[in-house]
Amino acid sequence: MDKATNHPDEELLAAYSAGSLPLSQALCVSAHLEHCASCGQTLQRLNRVGSELMQQLKPARASDELKNRLLDSLDSLTEATPAEEAQSVNPSIPRCLHQFIERDYDDLRWKRVSTDIHSVELCRDSNGAKVELLKIRPGGSATTHTHLGDEYTVILEGSFSDEAGLYRKGDFMVRGTSDQHTPVATLDRECICLAVTEGPVQFTGFISRLLNPFIRRSYA
Ligand SMILES: [Zn+2]
Repeated sequence: MDKATNHPDEELLAAYSAGSLPLSQALCVSAHLEHCASCGQTLQRLNRVGSELMQQLKPARASDELKNRLLDSLDSLTEATPAEEAQSVNPSIPRCLHQFIERDYDDLRWKRVSTDIHSVELCRDSNGAKVELLKIRPGGSATTHTHLGDEYTVILEGSFSDEAGLYRKGDFMVRGTSDQHTPVATLDRECICLAVTEGPVQFTGFISRLLNPFIRRSYA
């Protein structure tokens, strides 16, 4: 297991444990957990606390909607066994992303964003957040940008650096609306990230400001 050095905070892990995170954020936490034993241990502890709390609560009638969701999730668990998946999917792709990626990153319909970046949208969350993969070429830059909402990033392959430091496979980052940063992929290989943006990205360079109206339109 890779040693991630940037982790989701305990508040986020507690919300993940309670099942109260939006799908988009839960995907990022889940992708990180596959690379991080220490967050896995924290999660187990939080799960134990949660189940002890549940035992102290009086039983309530589950709604039909909740029952149906539970049954659906059990169905999806039995659809593909790990042995079947292991034959076809690149083993370094987190399991939580297998629903979007049949075999490998190369099979996806990457769209060119700039000379350095390609992206592919995986899904939209019900809260409007965009879940996508970003691929930055070796040494490529993701252009200085800020966000109109929080941005969650997990590195799936390769590494990048920005003003705050170096990030490697498995690292989990949250950038707020006031953070302006310029991620640059390291030279040795391309960098693939899972990225969740809760509002349109705002490019801040002179030329790239011209892109903003088009980026915003893609959120409409
Ligand atoms: Zn961690």
